[in-house]
Amino acid sequence: DKPAPSPRRDQDDRLLGGLLSPAFDDYSCRSRYASPSLYRRPSPFRPSSHLVARLRLYEARHRRCGPGSPLFREAVEHLRSGRNAARSECQYTVWTPFNGLGNRMLALASTFLHALLTDRVLLVHAPHEFDGLFCEPFPGSSWTLPAGFPIADFDGTFTMLSPTSYKNMKKAGTINGGENPNVTAETLPAYVFLDLIQSYTGAAFCEADQRVLAKFNWMVVKSDVYFATAFFLMPVYRRELARLFPEKEAAFHHLARYLFHPSNDVWAIVREFHEAYLAGADERIGLQVRVFPELPVPFETMYGQIMRCSEQEGLLPKVAERNAAAARNTSAVSSPDGRKTKLTSILVTSLSPEYYERIRGVYQANRAETGGYVAVHQPSHDGVQHTEARGHNQRALAEIYLLSFCDRIVTTAVSTFGYVAHGLAGVRPWVLLRSPSPGTPAEPACVRSLSVEPCMQAAPRQMCGAAKGSDIGTLAPYVRHCEDVHGGVKLF
Ligand code: GDP
Repeated sequence: DKPAPSPRRDQDDRLLGGLLSPAFDDYSCRSRYASPSLYRRPSPFRPSSHLVARLRLYEARHRRCGPGSPLFREAVEHLRSGRNAARSECQYTVWTPFNGLGNRMLALASTFLHALLTDRVLLVHAPHEFDGLFCEPFPGSSWTLPAGFPIADFDGTFTMLSPTSYKNMKKAGTINGGENPNVTAETLPAYVFLDLIQSYTGAAFCEADQRVLAKFNWMVVKSDVYFATAFFLMPVYRRELARLFPEKEAAFHHLARYLFHPSNDVWAIVREFHEAYLAGADERIGLQVRVFPELPVPFETMYGQIMRCSEQEGLLPKVAERNAAAARNTSAVSSPDGRKTKLTSILVTSLSPEYYERIRGVYQANRAETGGYVAVHQPSHDGVQHTEARGHNQRALAEIYLLSFCDRIVTTAVSTFGYVAHGLAGVRPWVLLRSPSPGTPAEPACVRSLSVEPCMQAAPRQMCGAAKGSDIGTLAPYVRHCEDVHGGVKLF
């Protein structure tokens, strides 16, 4: 007899090993405590007790300093007055979205990690198209910037030319000497803008930079990069990060599972699709095909690459050629002797319907070699990216989650949408590599990623303190260059 599951064990699963606070109600956010075992295989990673303890401390700080609290009102008054107060009990980081949803989730998770490391409170500027995608992550408070906040025009204020950007202030000499302990915080402007967009990621990862930034009570971060990786290369954070994430490969996995809970609207899309097409499968294979508009790849080239990858790695079920009518008869999920045949569901996500249509056609016309049944599904195909539209983003988030329920995941090189999906899943993906030049097929077609971590694309060329000309991919035993972006680095 199997032992009955113990209530303690159930609670541990429900809270992802203590990662989640039990302090929320179930209904306002159904995805948060949705039984993980219904949707995914158990995570191979467990959060450390230190991470769990730091998250509970963070939540207490967020309640004390967050929107609605007297300390928050006071800090906002300082910001409005244009002064950076000398000693402030609460310091804040305001994250503002930039680029597609995958980029946003990577940057937001990185910003949260920075807030954890530096005892700041994370707030989110949520324009219309971002609003309503996620549940509140911190109990008893909100992460959304409240109405009436002194800064309203984020797009206009925070550009690469902004005089309040850290990089520009450094250049202009506004904060020169800011790292000097004798230069007091009151002499600094009321806030600093940390511009970490693709090509400027070098700006903030020296310890001297971090000392200056720590003096600002308000910081605004705009980024489209998974810059969390850089903190693991800074001696000042190394010890704490080793305690937070003894398994470095799982840093984003835990941060994302802690922070990102799809809202009830998004969860309804996920659940419905899952119940209809994925729940009954014995194996789920996720295939994410992203063709970047700035780097178009003809359909046949990309399709050919997917098939080469599948063949090379034994991913999609092999087909045994035969006629379509006979293939249709195998759509019964039982074999003649009553044994259940294996059901494989292939989940295709892409802006275009073509890959799904071709692959579905293959399995409609041919039986799987092993005799199992193969079903192919695609939740949506919006054609082009519409980051400004909320419904489009809701579908994108739902698909990131559905992909993350898959047992094996194939992603497209460089796509942050894919990074988030396999990071949430805790699965090392097969990555369809970029071709070296137009017209030349990628060889090999794909590689198995070294780790479940996202790649920090656009990594700083040089870390502070590292020998001149040293390679950032060799600075620590737990980083490597990414398989898909050679200049990038990832933890493993
Ligand atoms: P990246 O550009 O691939 O790095 O990923 P991002 O998520 O940052 O930006 C791409 C955006 O295009 C997504 O956020 C979606 O809005 C849209 N998109 C791309 N691929 C898909 C897909 O497979 N399904 C859906 N629903 N949307 C997609």
